[in-house]
Amino acid sequence: MINFTVGPVQSSDAVRAIGAEQVPYFRTAEFSEMMLENERLVKKFANATKDSKVVFMTCSGSGGMEAAIINCLTPQDKALVINGGSFGERFVELLTLHKIPFTEIKLKYGRALKPEHLAEYESKGYTTFLMQKHETSTGVHYDINLVSDFCKRNNCFLIVDTISTFLCDSFDMAAMDAGVMITGSQKALACAPGIAVMILAPSAIKRIEKVQCCCQYLDLKLALKNMERGQTPWTPAVGILRQINVRLKEIESAGGAEVEIARCAELAKYFRDKLVENNLPFEIVSESLSNAVTPLHPITQSAFKIFLKMKDEYGMWICPNGGNMKDTIFRIGHIGHLQKEDYDKLIAAFIDLREKRFI
Ligand SMILES: *Cc1c(COP(=O)(O)O)cnc(C)c1O
Repeated sequence: MINFTVGPVQSSDAVRAIGAEQVPYFRTAEFSEMMLENERLVKKFANATKDSKVVFMTCSGSGGMEAAIINCLTPQDKALVINGGSFGERFVELLTLHKIPFTEIKLKYGRALKPEHLAEYESKGYTTFLMQKHETSTGVHYDINLVSDFCKRNNCFLIVDTISTFLCDSFDMAAMDAGVMITGSQKALACAPGIAVMILAPSAIKRIEKVQCCCQYLDLKLALKNMERGQTPWTPAVGILRQINVRLKEIESAGGAEVEIARCAELAKYFRDKLVENNLPFEIVSESLSNAVTPLHPITQSAFKIFLKMKDEYGMWICPNGGNMKDTIFRIGHIGHLQKEDYDKLIAAFIDLREKRFI
């Protein structure tokens, strides 16, 4: 199978090799040292400030989203949240569940964030802002500069879900003055799923110290305390943390985050150019694309049927959409261990489907 989804994605041989090894005991100086190296490289790749801290939580990305909310926010906050797809909706559900007052900025699927979406919320006493930098479900890459400027003007604490954009689009945490950034192991980090990585700026650490967390397992006070010595409060997904270490060092030795981002950008462009060149019956449905994924509306066939056909007859996973986008949108990912030749095969399969009048 070739995997063109947005996660889990294909891993490099070195990362996969770790998966075959015995899982080592982890309350050791060697493991601690590796964790501190992971912290150093994650901070470097996100351009986090020196005094920021990283925690590695054993849960998927959504666990990181929930941890951010239950450790940094209280019912005294007044939150703004962008909702332009299923991950924005998840923030809305979490704020509701944890009784954090909020206002939702609803965006039509596929639409970019514009200054006019924020204008009416200036000087209205909002204390915090939550957003996806890239809403993966619709493939919309939001202009985080707009939000960051809004937050600086309005003194808002900024929580950014960069789960599908870290290491495939540029991100400067210090310049954005973000309090929390969240990512996951199975997107552009291209490891197995199971770890949420969170960078916590001093503004977040201050909030975490004050808030009484309602969940012991996701208590960031405990995670921070243990991470001072490169450890975790509970048994973590040791194997995935080792994969992350190999992967971060791979990226570092290839030239760092910029090089990895450029690699994804090149793959995305290669695929998008081929789509046009071959005049395939798919429309790009996002006003603002990330390098992570190309969201497509197939004009002549159900998106989900194309997904099934590609999986069952061509040995390829394209990325289906759920809910009311199931039949109208599928996505092609550009993250993970993929090459141009993989896209040649994908395009050839689409051309074959057209010749057979399936699309
Ligand atoms: C994948 C993703 C998540 C959720 O991650 P899980 O690992 O599936 O919990 C959250 N936000 C965004 C933007 C994502 O792409």
